[in-house]
Parts: sequence; structure tokens; C-alpha cells
Amino acid sequence: MDKGEQGRKFLAMSDYDLAHEQLTRDLFYQKVPPEQAEQYVCTALKIGADVAKACPSKDIYELCADNNIRVEKLSAKGKYFGVRMRAEIHMSDEETKILLYWQSIEDITQSLQDFFPDDQRMSLDTILKMHLAHEFFHYIEQRDSMRVNEMLPKVVTFSFLGFKRRATILTLSEVAAHSFSKELLQLPHYPYLYDKLYALSL
Ligand SMILES: [Zn+2]
Repeated sequence: MDKGEQGRKFLAMSDYDLAHEQLTRDLFYQKVPPEQAEQYVCTALKIGADVAKACPSKDIYELCADNNIRVEKLSAKGKYFGVRMRAEIHMSDEETKILLYWQSIEDITQSLQDFFPDDQRMSLDTILKMHLAHEFFHYIEQRDSMRVNEMLPKVVTFSFLGFKRRATILTLSEVAAHSFSKELLQLPHYPYLYDKLYALSL
């Protein structure tokens, strides 16, 4: 299958399918009871969308400003253990700031052009806002003590002689953040699609 054909296949995936695939990448996905996976995905998608609907503004820059979040655009490419990063949030008692790695965001914007007809292309500004909104959601999780991974049942990661170790599924927080970003900005696609298309272009 060539890249164009593969890309069209990705474009045909529903939000649910994309979010579900994203969940399968979680370290503990194998520990999720199969009958629970759908509920995990649907709940995380709904939480993200509901939080977006409840936001007093749909303007992500305004939301950041109103919450005293500093937005910093860095020209460097973000790197974290060799994994390319495009945005990250730093929260401390003194300040909250969202870093946007300009070069990485430009890279993905450029790569996505190939997969969309001219009239459906995503602008650099939209891609920037998408990343900003995603990080802003993590801020809300912290501010309102509503971490999505903690709102859903933990999974048993280890079991021995009646002793059970449990963990939360961190990816659920990522699913909710993507869903928030899509709803707030009224994006045409669930953002994980863009990661898949970008990976295809490399
Ligand atoms: Zn995230």
C-alpha cells in the first residue's frame, strides 16, 4: 500500500477508532479488560469534549491569558529521550507556561499538506492552537484536580497470592486532551490522526 492510499485509510477512521488505537499504545493496554476498553475510550472522549463546551471562551489565547499561562514559542525542536516533542506544559507555584516548539510544529504542518486537498489544508496557526489547547487541557486537569486517568477504573498490573498492584491508564488523559482540542477549535479531525499522517510522511 502506498503512502497516499494509507493516508486515505487513516482519514476514513472515526474519532473512536483513532482514540482506541491511541489507547492500544498505552504501556498497560494489555491489562485493560477487553470489555472495558470501549467505555474507557468513550468516557475520555466525552470528558474532553464536555470541558471544551463549558469553557467561557473558545479563543485558546484568551483562555491562556485569563489563567495567567505564559505561552512561549521556542525556535528549537523539542526533544525528550529522542522523541520529538511539539509542546509541553510546565506548572509550578510561581508560574504556568506552555512551550511550543516552533520548528517541530512547522514540520508537521508542512508534512500534513500532502494529505489534504488545497481547500482543506491546516494552517500553521491552527496546528499551533491545537497543541496549545491540548496542553491547556492538562492545565485544567491539574487546576481542577480532575485527572482523567484517575477518573476511570485502575487496571491490575500485577497479581500474586492475593496481592494486587494497580495503575491508571495515562493515555486516557491524552485522549481527553485531544478531544478537548478538537471540540474547542472545531477541528475537522481527532488530532491523533495528524500524528499518524506525520509518522507516515517520515
Ligand atoms: Zn498530552
